[in-house]
Amino acid sequence: MRGVVMHGPGDVRVEDRDDPRIVHPTDAVIRLSATCICGSDLWPYRGEDEVHDAPMGHEYVGVVEEVGSDVRNVKPGQFVVGSFVSSDNTCEICAAGYQSRCVQGELMGNIGTQAQYARIPLADGTLVATPGMPPDALIPSLLAASDVLGTGWFAAVAADAGPGKVVTVVGDGAVGLLGVMAARQLGAERIIVMSRHRDRQALAREFGATDVVEERGDEGVAAIKDLTGGLGAHSVIEAVGTQQSMMQAISATRPGGHVGFVGLSHDVNLPGDELFFSMVHLHGGLAPVRRFLPELIRLIWNGKIDPGKVFDLSLPLADAAEGYKAMDERRAIKVLLTV
Ligand SMILES: [Zn+2]
Repeated sequence: MRGVVMHGPGDVRVEDRDDPRIVHPTDAVIRLSATCICGSDLWPYRGEDEVHDAPMGHEYVGVVEEVGSDVRNVKPGQFVVGSFVSSDNTCEICAAGYQSRCVQGELMGNIGTQAQYARIPLADGTLVATPGMPPDALIPSLLAASDVLGTGWFAAVAADAGPGKVVTVVGDGAVGLLGVMAARQLGAERIIVMSRHRDRQALAREFGATDVVEERGDEGVAAIKDLTGGLGAHSVIEAVGTQQSMMQAISATRPGGHVGFVGLSHDVNLPGDELFFSMVHLHGGLAPVRRFLPELIRLIWNGKIDPGKVFDLSLPLADAAEGYKAMDERRAIKVLLTV
């Protein structure tokens, strides 16, 4: 099969990889319908994480080709969506809703789903079948559920977004924008997106943002306080993962409020004194997307949400290198790769 391999920073190639096969009786093999490039794939692309000859990709939707002898919940021919971490969905951690830290879980990025086929471990727990074969128009939204929508949703839940709440979103990438959508769906009263890109501000407003703040850092925090009677937001979604964005999120949250942080943390150090006096709830990390998949698939299937709009560039898998370049240069918010 053909699949994406990152040989080193900036060096993305589509080449022949071994066809996946069933290794464990709990595995499935799927034929990808679409996959995509994640903001987190840019860390190694930019040389900020080490990378050598790595298969890439962890987001996927497709059709089940083959299942192992112990697989009961999905069968060949079904269209499925899965999270970027495999999970049995039965261990105590999964049962509590933290499937991204399943005791048996594996990061799908190590398997690499920017490819024609992929082996899915723990298929019964990992995969959720759609009610039928989706029309092509729904595929981008179902693919978004695999990571960015599920991650934005977890961030909004972790930030305790809901009726009567003012929500602030730090980060206008795909996850931040879908955090806006999630906050809206959860009933937030007011949603302030922090963004300085016009196209992203427009999409944020379409997804439910009521206000835009262009300032960053201390000025950004001051602007949020101005909009909230000097108190700060009840709920803040952090979707970047840098020192500045994390401190901006904590400082923009009122005492007693909640920060939902899902930006993959890079060299973030929290000063104890600021944390102590902030009196905010901090919850986040690797989003347990699997917890939300049945609900997200239902909302997409019924036309209630259209998260696929975050894909503003679609390319064939063979052109993955151009997709990485477009995201790196911020010419695209998120790139879908058709398989
Ligand atoms: Zn588990």
